[in-house]
Amino acid sequence: MHADIVLIGSGMGGATMAAALAPSGRRILIIERGDHLRDAPETRSDVAIFGHGHFRPKETWLDGRGQPFNPGNYYYVGGNSKFYGAVLLRYRREDFSPIRHMGGSTPGWPMSYDDLEPDYQAAEALYQVRGELDTDPTEPAHSGPYHHSPVPDEPDIAWLRQRLIAAGLHPSSLPLGVDIERWLARARTPWDAFPNTGVGKLDAESAGLAAALRHDNVSLLTGARATQLIPGDDDRIAAVEIVRDGATSRIAADTFVLSAGAVQTAALLLASATDRHPNGLANASDQVGRNFMNHNSSAVLALHPLRRNRSIYQKTLQCNDFYLTGGPNGEPLGNIQLLGKISGTILAAASPVPAALAGLVATHSYDFYAMSEDLPNPESRVTLRGDQIVLDWKRSNWEAHLLLVDALKQRLRRAGFPLVLSRAFDRRTPSHQCGTARMGNDPSTSVVDSYGRSHQHHNLVLADASVLPTSAAVNPALTIAALSLRAARRLLETSAAN
Ligand SMILES: Cc1cc2nc3c(=O)[nH]c(=O)nc-3n(C[C@H](O)[C@H](O)[C@H](O)COP(=O)(O)OP(=O)(O)OC[C@H]3O[C@@H](n4cnc5c(N)ncnc54)[C@H](O)[C@@H]3O)c2cc1C
Repeated sequence: MHADIVLIGSGMGGATMAAALAPSGRRILIIERGDHLRDAPETRSDVAIFGHGHFRPKETWLDGRGQPFNPGNYYYVGGNSKFYGAVLLRYRREDFSPIRHMGGSTPGWPMSYDDLEPDYQAAEALYQVRGELDTDPTEPAHSGPYHHSPVPDEPDIAWLRQRLIAAGLHPSSLPLGVDIERWLARARTPWDAFPNTGVGKLDAESAGLAAALRHDNVSLLTGARATQLIPGDDDRIAAVEIVRDGATSRIAADTFVLSAGAVQTAALLLASATDRHPNGLANASDQVGRNFMNHNSSAVLALHPLRRNRSIYQKTLQCNDFYLTGGPNGEPLGNIQLLGKISGTILAAASPVPAALAGLVATHSYDFYAMSEDLPNPESRVTLRGDQIVLDWKRSNWEAHLLLVDALKQRLRRAGFPLVLSRAFDRRTPSHQCGTARMGNDPSTSVVDSYGRSHQHHNLVLADASVLPTSAAVNPALTIAALSLRAARRLLETSAAN
């Protein structure tokens, strides 16, 4: 089998890339390890999702101490975005420059915010982001407006917004890829971590891939797992080896786009080692698998004994008061946003709160997500032990996260919540994984250039969270999509010139 361009993985990076490449008329084949996520009662059941881990993969990774764990990393058409909270935030302008944090410093990006801005704008159009400008002081300049107004606060969240303002915070509407009427028409549940089986959430499948597959030159092969990239004699990638229905075959192409997600992309490059490339492909810098980042994050529950929270979805506001400052010497602390409304089932599954009490707590709680930047560290890494993935995540900048949680708790008490509880998210869910094949201008310290192209194999492009040089403290999906649009444009320009 031969295609002009083979894409590996149909998540946020791959699907967006496919949408941008499709109008070129090139023969594009997307190979995806998972299948379509079909509608079923479990897709809207908190018991199935949080209680039974119904959609989690039957896969085990090892942590840094060699302990096995079942990762919350999802393999379906559309990838992790099927489950995402659909918060589609831009990195802030400051995130593209070096920043001094409490736990160390971040490098700058090989591009500025202004370089990426047009692609952010286009990504917001593709994912039909609902949002509003001019309410968040940290929001960088946009060259155009959002085309859809924000998802409305539910009444109890409108009340909360006023309480937060009274407590000195500056809440703003979360930019969201959610068509709220369509989402609620299927079932009245939150969307955060609930898989999308229709068009209520604009995810990699319902937006990016749908746009790509409108073109006859694009096809999708599901249930096909890439096991190895095969380099040719000239160091270009010649083929990808896949396993489908137990059979192994090879697919050749002129260009390969690897978009398997930060952990799996690194694993595939490492698993493709040959005698000439003993450290794996694209790895002359020895950076593949290194600099793994995930956000430091906690759930913070504000309880008001006399007031119920009747919200269904809740997740409509954020506060960036501590995004750029707040540490003892003005260091950044992070972003605060609402979680999808937690239920007693969710709370009991994720914490030691007894089931009988959890329902009562959830009825009265307003549920926040505090998120702080994790800094790149070469020792925080993905490696392979035989076929087994080892994820040795070295958390960083934790002190800033603790301050963020403290600052939030203090403001919530001031806002009138006498009881505020917090709990850090566990390490088994690498939801915001990134950094394992970072971009940069220097081939000796990075894996790809600022267009995602491998410094070493010129027909290999990486288009997923692996290329992010920093994690910032915002949800990553929109930045992954914007980088894919930038990479696709470059790929078409350079291949047209050849
Ligand atoms: C519960 C949850 C909530 C989240 N909420 C948000 C949010 O609100 N906002 C936000 O910005 N981000 C959110 N995220 C993170 C966001 O979903 C990811 O950052 C984003 O989807 C990553 O895109 P990606 O292309 O890097 O990888 P993925 O989405 O993981 O896509 C990789 C794809 O490659 C496929 N694949 C993997 N290995 C192979 C292989 N060997 N062969 C073939 N195919 C392969 C996978 O099946 C998958 O489809 C959330 C994530 C989770 C889990």
